[in-house]
Amino acid sequence: MTGLSDSFQRPINYLRISVTDRCNLRCIYCMPAGGVELRPHSDILSYEEIHNVARAAAELGINKLRVTGGEPLVRLGLSRLIEMLAGIEAIDDIALTTNGVLLADYAAELKAAGLKRVNISLDTLKYDRFKRITRGESELSQVLEGIEAAKRVGLEPVKLNMVVMSGINDDELLDFAAKTIDQDWHVRFIELMPVNGEDSAPRFVAAAEMRKRLESLGELEPCLPAVGNGPAKYFRFANAKGTIGFITPVSEHFCFNCNRMRLTADGKLRPCLLSDYEIDLKQPLRDGVSKAGLKKLFKKAVAEKPLRHKLAEGEVPSRRPFSHVGG
Ligand code: SAM
Repeated sequence: MTGLSDSFQRPINYLRISVTDRCNLRCIYCMPAGGVELRPHSDILSYEEIHNVARAAAELGINKLRVTGGEPLVRLGLSRLIEMLAGIEAIDDIALTTNGVLLADYAAELKAAGLKRVNISLDTLKYDRFKRITRGESELSQVLEGIEAAKRVGLEPVKLNMVVMSGINDDELLDFAAKTIDQDWHVRFIELMPVNGEDSAPRFVAAAEMRKRLESLGELEPCLPAVGNGPAKYFRFANAKGTIGFITPVSEHFCFNCNRMRLTADGKLRPCLLSDYEIDLKQPLRDGVSKAGLKKLFKKAVAEKPLRHKLAEGEVPSRRPFSHVGG
C-alpha cells in the first residue's frame, strides 16, 4: 500500500462518510427552522456503493473511517454497513458521529459489527433547553442513555461534542467541564461555524474565551503526549478523570494538519468541508466504474484539496448544509 498525500504534501488517511442527509433533530446551529431539502432515496449511495468507494480508498492509503450524516442512525441497517467496512483489511479504525438519540437501541450491535468508538453531539444538560436547541420531539434522556449504552458496550472513548453559542448554552461551559473532573467524560467544545448563509458572529464564542472562563475551575493542563491527530487540542484539570478539547475552526484553523476527505450521502467526494469543490462518484459507480477508475477519481479529488478555508476572513463558501456534507 502506498501512502496518499495531497498537493501540499499533507498525508491523507481519513475518510468521513455521510450515509444520509436525513436527521431526527433540527439543531438551530445546523439546520434552518424549516429543515433542508432532502435528496430522493435514489440519489443516496447504497451500502454496496459506499463499500466500493471505501475499498478503493483503503487501497490508496485511507485507514480511518468515520460514519456521519445527517443522523447516521436513522438509516436502516447501519450495522450492516459497519460490518462491511470493518471487513476491509487496511481499515483499522471505524468511528461514528451521532446525536445519540437512537444510540441506546443500536450500541451493542454496532460494537459487534466492528465499530470502535463514537462521538456524540450534546449541547446542553438541561431538558427544556435541549428541546429548544434541537427543535425536535426527542429528549435529552435518550442521549444520556445513548452515552451510557456506548460506554457499557465499550465504544470508547466516548467523546461529547458541544457547539458553544453565546446566550444559548455558553452558561453551561462550567457544568460540562465539571463533568470531566469526577467522571470520564471527554468533552470537546466546538467554535460555532457559519452555515446556511446565517451570520454566526453574534453567537460566536472563541476558544480562548471559553478557556478563560473554564480556568475559574482550576488550571487546565495540556494532555501529554498529545491525544489523537484530530483537530482538537486536549487539556485536563489536575487529577480529572476526563479531558477537555477545543476545536477552533474559526479562531485558529487546523487545515495544515488536515488529513481528511469526505464522501457525501449523494456520492460526491469532497476534499474540504468548507469548500464547494466536489467530484461525483455516484454516476461513475452506477455506470460500473472499475476499482482502478474509482482510485483515479479519488486521487484527483485529493489533488484538488485546498490549502485552507477562509472562515476567519469571512468567506463562507458552503452552499450545502452540514447535514448534507457530513459535518
Ligand atoms: N447527526 C450527527 C451529530 O449530531 O453529531 C452527525 C452530523 S452533525 C452535522 C456533525 C457535527 O457537526 C456535530 O458535532 C455538530 O455539532 C457539528 N456542527 C453542525 N453545525 C455546526 C456549526 N454551525 N458549527 C460547528 N459545528 C457544527
